Amino acid sequence: RAKSNGRGRAEVFDMALRTELEARAKLEADIRAGLADGQFELHYQPVMSVATGSLRSYEALIRWNHPERGLVPPAGFIPPAEESLLICEIGRWVLGTATRQLAGWIWDDPETHRGVTVSVNISARHLASPSLVDEVRQALHESGLEAARLVLEITETALMDEPTADAHLRDLRALGVTVSLDDFGTGYTSIGQLQKLQVDTLKIDQSFLHADDTPTQALVELMVTAAHAFSLDVVAEGVETREQLDRLADIGCELAQGYYLGRPKPARDTVVQAESLS
Ligand code: C2E
Ligand code: MG
Ligand code: MG
Ligand code: MG
Repeated sequence: RAKSNGRGRAEVFDMALRTELEARAKLEADIRAGLADGQFELHYQPVMSVATGSLRSYEALIRWNHPERGLVPPAGFIPPAEESLLICEIGRWVLGTATRQLAGWIWDDPETHRGVTVSVNISARHLASPSLVDEVRQALHESGLEAARLVLEITETALMDEPTADAHLRDLRALGVTVSLDDFGTGYTSIGQLQKLQVDTLKIDQSFLHADDTPTQALVELMVTAAHAFSLDVVAEGVETREQLDRLADIGCELAQGYYLGRPKPARDTVVQAESLS
């Protein structure tokens, strides 16, 4: 009896594993087909100057127009894609699309886009890929966008887990591309380590903005001060209220992004929003 119970459990486990593997294989096939079929699109969210309210950058945020599931947010497919090399294919598409998009906007309306950059999220595995530097070079070449107009957003985990990350970042920055450390404060990077990292900008994670207790506010101020001491720019993510924006101005945080300043919008609505701001 014990034996048959054990076998029963093993069978249940086998079934669960098989179902999961099948689900993952289907998702991967769907993503590949979706890339080929034009089902992905980028939405763009403005990053603004706190002091002047002027547009400084657009963060490109991927969405999946799934034929059955509707508009799928990145949380629904980026984490599983990160388990495989598929994330590099997605990343390549995002790099190509975002650089082409900004180059087009600059062409159509250079005044509104003077000095404006586009930020692209790069996953850990893609950062570790030996072809990333060439892919970035190619995206710039094909779009005609200047390297200084492209920002790559990476996370602390990508820096910690990938031994090649540092060398790749050095090569990317040598191209003239800017690197931003996303979701800062949620990982294990200490403020002191910022000095040695190959990054230009710090993005303070939105959880710090949303907690309005005094100790967390002191922490935000400390991050801004430290970033400046190391000559890094600072972006505060997740600004949802006027009060949060005012506080950022008080502590000298120069850049902000969040629903209060503008939501991520499809490309066709992005420039309209930018023009209404300027
Ligand atoms: P992230 O890079 O930290 O992007 C910021 C996220 O916060 C976005 O969610 C944005 O819509 C959301 N957000 C912006 N302002 C506010 C606000 O005021 N309040 C709140 N509550 N949320 C705000 P989204 O678009 O769902 O993206 C989630 C994450 O998915 C991104 O976090 C990024 O890690 C990843 N992601 C998005 N696009 C890409 C991509 O093209 N490639 C890769 N590898 N990852 C991506
Ligand atoms: Mg980001
Ligand atoms: Mg972030
Ligand atoms: Mg985030």
